[in-house]
Order: sequence, then C-alpha cells, then structure tokens
Amino acid sequence: MTHRWACLLGQPVAHSLSPALHNAAFCSLGIDAHYEAWEVAPGALGEAILRLRAAECMGANVTAPHKRAAVGYMDEVSAEVLALGVLNTIVNQGGRLIGDNTDARGLSRWMREVEIETAGRSALVLGAGGAARAAVWALADLQAASVRVLNRTVQRAQAVVTSLQPSLKAVELSWGPLDEAARPASAVWNVVVNATSLGHHGGALDLHPSCYSRDSVAIELAYNPPETGFMVAARQAGARAENGLGMLLHQAGLAFERWTGEAAPMDVYEQAALLAAQRSAA
Ligand code: NAP
Repeated sequence: MTHRWACLLGQPVAHSLSPALHNAAFCSLGIDAHYEAWEVAPGALGEAILRLRAAECMGANVTAPHKRAAVGYMDEVSAEVLALGVLNTIVNQGGRLIGDNTDARGLSRWMREVEIETAGRSALVLGAGGAARAAVWALADLQAASVRVLNRTVQRAQAVVTSLQPSLKAVELSWGPLDEAARPASAVWNVVVNATSLGHHGGALDLHPSCYSRDSVAIELAYNPPETGFMVAARQAGARAENGLGMLLHQAGLAFERWTGEAAPMDVYEQAALLAAQRSAA
C-alpha cells in the first residue's frame, strides 16, 4: 500500500502541536502515513494547495493566515464553511478538494463530552475572529438560547452576528463593544468564551466578576499557556474554568476521521499533547 501524507499550511507553523498529534495517531493505529508542517507565505498558498491533489495526499489542516483565503481554492465546502466563511481542514477525495471547518464541531463535541450545559442557556463570546465565529456556531449547535458577541472593534462583532444569524436561526445573536464586559452585569452568563487572542499573548481581559454564577463555565480558547488570567479570575468568581486544549484535540480528531475513515485515538492525542507541553517547559 502507498505511503500517504497530510500537512499543515500556515505561517508561522513551528509552534503547532498538529504534527506531534497526527504522527502519534498514525503510529498507534499502524497507518502508513506521516504529517508535516509547511511554512506557507500568503503568495504561495495556491501552489501549496495544488500539491494536495496528489493521490497519496489525504488532505491538510490550514491555520492563520490562510483560513479564509483557502476557501477560494476548494472544489466543494461543508455547511460549516459556508456559514463561517473560513476552513481549517482540507480533504482530498480522489483529487477533488473538500473544505471543512472542524474547529466549530470540535468545540461542540468537546463541550458535550465534558458536560458543559448549554441548551436553553445564555452565552457570551469575547472576540470576533475565526475562533469566535467557531464558538458562536458551536454554542448554536448545542442549542444555546442566546449568544452575545463583544469585541474591541465593535464593527467586527456586528459582522459576526449579521453573517451568522441567517444560518443559525434558532439562537438569538446580539453584539456590543468589549468594554461592556468590564461593567457590572445585568444578568449572569452560563457560558463565557474568551476567543480574543489576549490569552495566547498573556494580556489581561477586563471582565466584571458579576457576569458569573457558581453554575457558569468560562472557556479560554487558548491552550498555551494552559492557565490564563481569564481562567484564574473566573475561578475566583466561583465559575468552572477550562482551556482550549479539548477543542484543539477534537478538531484534530475530526480531521483525522475525515482523512482516514477511522476513529481518532483521543487518548494518544492527549498523551502526545502532554509530552509536547513537558518538552516545551523543559
Ligand atoms: P484572530 O482572528 O486574530 O482574532 C483575534 C481576536 O482577539 C479579535 O477579536 C481581536 O479584536 C481580539 N484582540 C486581539 N488583541 C486584543 C486586545 N489587545 N484587546 C482586546 N481584544 C483583542 O484570532 P483567532 O484565530 O480567532 O484566535 C483567537 C484565540 O483563539 C487565540 O487565543 C487562539 O490561540 C485561540 N484558538 C484556539 C483554537 C483551539 O483549537 N483551541 C483554535 C483557534 C484559535 P479586534 O477585532 O478588535 O482586533
């Protein structure tokens, strides 16, 4: 049988956990394949995507800054990509490239697994980039009653809501400026998702503790560092706090399933992520 491969397209990619996760998964299931990270400048994206049509290529992951631009090179896209406007996974089906977004479904699958109650509840999403869009989609998928999107650049929060509301009809979406979160809350939020890049960059987020109750869950989408100021403040206010590692592992697992047709070994991903974290701390 032919040796197969998959890869990550992005810039930068050196920090990515994806090669460690997928190579460990191929190895544990005895799949003759490898995964590598490709540093791809914006001007070279088309050429890189062309290489994915090769018979031995299973597909790719796509990260910043190419998640939106890559959509234009696909032969077909999933309903999530149509709604979100961005992809993170490409599947090569006999030379045809299918674009998918496993960030959104990865987040909702992980939230279900760790029993974050969302149905009929209210949620707050901080940020308006690709991760925030995925979070809004996931919360709607979990049947949240309402989602409010707050962002520093308020027009981007408005754009998230106006572009997603037509495909997410059952959830009430609203938007506002990020500094609204610093003021005493008029009602508590059941789920608060930090989808700004402040967690990843170690910046502080000004969030009033009255937005939480003891039933609330705060989700930091960044996973490096594993504990952020947003998570510490949420715990101090009595809420449960989680980081974005679960979302990362599940988006990887869904991509793996699409490429190989086999269930992803989630325990192998967890071990590989742990090992990579220990290596980077050493
Ligand atoms: P992005 O598209 O660059 O969006 C960044 C967001 O952060 C924007 O809303 C931006 O606001 C806001 N922001 C940046 N600096 C800020 C500041 N100083 N003050 C207030 N807001 C600020 O990034 P993304 O791809 O959505 O990623 C966002 C986060 O999610 C990152 O931490 C990333 O690591 C994480 N993530 C995790 C996963 C996972 O699998 N766990 C997957 C994807 C992303 P403006 O619009 O005003 O600039």
